[in-house]
Amino acid sequence: MTLQIAGAGMAGLCAAARARELGLEAVVYEKGDRAGGSMLLSSCVVWRYRSFDEFRAECPGGDPALQREVIERLDDGLHWLRSLGAKVLWEETGNPRTVGMRFDPHSLTEALVGAAEEVRLGEVAPDDAEPLLLATGGFQGDRELVRTVVKPGGELLLRANRWSAGDGLRLAVARGADVSSGMDEFYGRAMPAPPAEVPEDRFVELAQLYGRHALVLDDRGEEFAPDPISWSETDLVQAIARRPNAQAWYLVVEDALEVEVRGRTVREMVEAARGAGGEVLLPNELGIELPESYRYAVHVIAGITHTIGGVRIDASARVLRDDGTPIEGRFAAGADVGGISTGGYASGLASALVLGYIAAETIADTDA
Ligand SMILES: Cc1cc2nc3c(=O)[nH]c(=O)nc-3n(C[C@H](O)[C@H](O)[C@H](O)COP(=O)(O)OP(=O)(O)OC[C@H]3O[C@@H](n4cnc5c(N)ncnc54)[C@H](O)[C@@H]3O)c2cc1C
Repeated sequence: MTLQIAGAGMAGLCAAARARELGLEAVVYEKGDRAGGSMLLSSCVVWRYRSFDEFRAECPGGDPALQREVIERLDDGLHWLRSLGAKVLWEETGNPRTVGMRFDPHSLTEALVGAAEEVRLGEVAPDDAEPLLLATGGFQGDRELVRTVVKPGGELLLRANRWSAGDGLRLAVARGADVSSGMDEFYGRAMPAPPAEVPEDRFVELAQLYGRHALVLDDRGEEFAPDPISWSETDLVQAIARRPNAQAWYLVVEDALEVEVRGRTVREMVEAARGAGGEVLLPNELGIELPESYRYAVHVIAGITHTIGGVRIDASARVLRDDGTPIEGRFAAGADVGGISTGGYASGLASALVLGYIAAETIADTDA
């Protein structure tokens, strides 16, 4: 039996590498002209919450069975990635809520492609392939689907590889699959709004991660931020997405400029936005009455990295119908799978790793 995999990103490559270890043949089809998907563009911090209870508290709408798999299997998965030759940059995440490692994304992609062996660039998997693992990375790249399902107040900035456009979701639904909770949710970052230039190799560096240290107004001058804003700011980015133009202003006081957020000061992030051609104004240029302590007004747009809703699966990575029965020959992993971090934010790379790994094991067991 040959496992066929749609998508050579984190989930698809992990599944292929694990399948080979288990003695299965595996072919990875990759729609894009390179392997690595969004993983290659990412900060590559692969992490989990410290405990299952913390995961539940942070992402209360997620499926507990999938969350438990991530908590219980991630640490072995991280050691496995390292054993394949992926270079570890950090042994810890630097975030007290989480544990994990940061990898070099190029080295990780190279190690996984080597272990996967057969990766066909520029090809999509045949619709009738079986068994087929859907690992196409979510539907954020399909603007129409985002418009109708996520319902933003304007066009979001795509902060992801450009090929992940809902193919896995469509292939699953065409076979009768159910969808998960949280179809209108997404993980993303506030990014400098147009006319800023935001090329994909600057997605990490241009993120504006200081909403909690700013006054946040929409384009009409209204305050709307969640109170409090969560540590990851995913809730704020989703709230910005629903405002007019999916844009907002971050107003920053002088004292906040030296605050450090994950290794960068607010000042550095503001300067990065300015350097990319983004609008960084003096607050009085907005035409709103504000205390003098405000120093800058930075125009941001909601950037979508990946969708949080998607295909519903069980803890063996089998795609499910709405009556909870598995669909023969269809598996899913990574951002194609929905309902893991519903209501919050969790590492997309971690669930892609764990579920890719599990999918290969389920298919190998079926084959035995
Ligand atoms: C700037 C940035 C920073 C990030 N930082 C982090 C981080 O630090 N930690 C973290 O956990 N996550 C991070 N992420 C998110 C993380 O990259 C994703 O959650 C993860 O890559 C999802 O894995 P995946 O395999 O589902 O998708 P991907 O890795 O994106 O792979 C999907 C692949 O499928 C391909 N594809 C699409 N359609 C088809 C088709 N029909 N047939 C064949 N191939 C297809 C795509 O081209 C792509 O190569 C970041 C993402 C970005 C963009």
